[in-house]
Amino acid sequence: MILFDKIIFGPVKSRRLGVSLGVNLLPVDAKICSFDCVYCECGFNTRIKEASIPGREQVFQALEAKLKEMVKACELPDSITFAGNGEPTMHKDFEGVIDDTLALRDQYCPKAQVSVLSNSTHMHKPGVFKALNKVDQNILKFDSALDETVHRLNRPLNKSFTTAWQIEHFKKFNGNLIIQTMFIRGMLNDGIIDNTTDEEIDAWIKALQVIRPKQVMIYTFERETPTKGMQKISLTELNEIAEKVRTITGLDVAVFA
Ligand code: SF4
Repeated sequence: MILFDKIIFGPVKSRRLGVSLGVNLLPVDAKICSFDCVYCECGFNTRIKEASIPGREQVFQALEAKLKEMVKACELPDSITFAGNGEPTMHKDFEGVIDDTLALRDQYCPKAQVSVLSNSTHMHKPGVFKALNKVDQNILKFDSALDETVHRLNRPLNKSFTTAWQIEHFKKFNGNLIIQTMFIRGMLNDGIIDNTTDEEIDAWIKALQVIRPKQVMIYTFERETPTKGMQKISLTELNEIAEKVRTITGLDVAVFA
């Protein structure tokens, strides 16, 4: 599994975001997330080590230093992307960090997008909601509209987490969000997991019709997953799913395989 060993990492060439400069608001030596997805490329959750979570000032300094370096080399990022070793919105000062990042972006690389890849579990907090509304790409995870699948695939730490809650809060963005969905199938200890079945896709599309995001990103995993026996979904299948969404909802769908 891959852990990011710095606050600022990359730039990397991202399938979805182009030249992406990563910001990791989690520890550099452990993954911490409010989900524990069976496919997480950072591995499974580890114990929280508060001490190693970077403070707002530390993030500001590290990001400014890297952007200065990139400006000097004439290599500007397409996106400053919050991802890293877990869920970025769990950071205590997420809104402050986003404000700093938007200011640094305006100063050093005004054409870059500020993107957040989040699992959405903290979007109900006023500061997180405000911050997600300010960024250019508010990309929120929604792998299934069926609670049972979410609890087996994404494994939220909050056992009362429901997709109804998630959909209600997605609606509050009034379209200022991008839905990201990982399609996958495989065998878990308790049986087959597959979020591409007709039942899954029908429920997911119904939810998308209510959420009305500005885009839907669909993809399958890229690197090794901590759970063995997971299968990638082919580009052909992803394209079929995308076409179905476009036909039924008229939404913009981007496929990454
Ligand atoms: S939400 Fe993202 S970081 Fe969290 S466990 Fe799932 S894949 Fe990993």
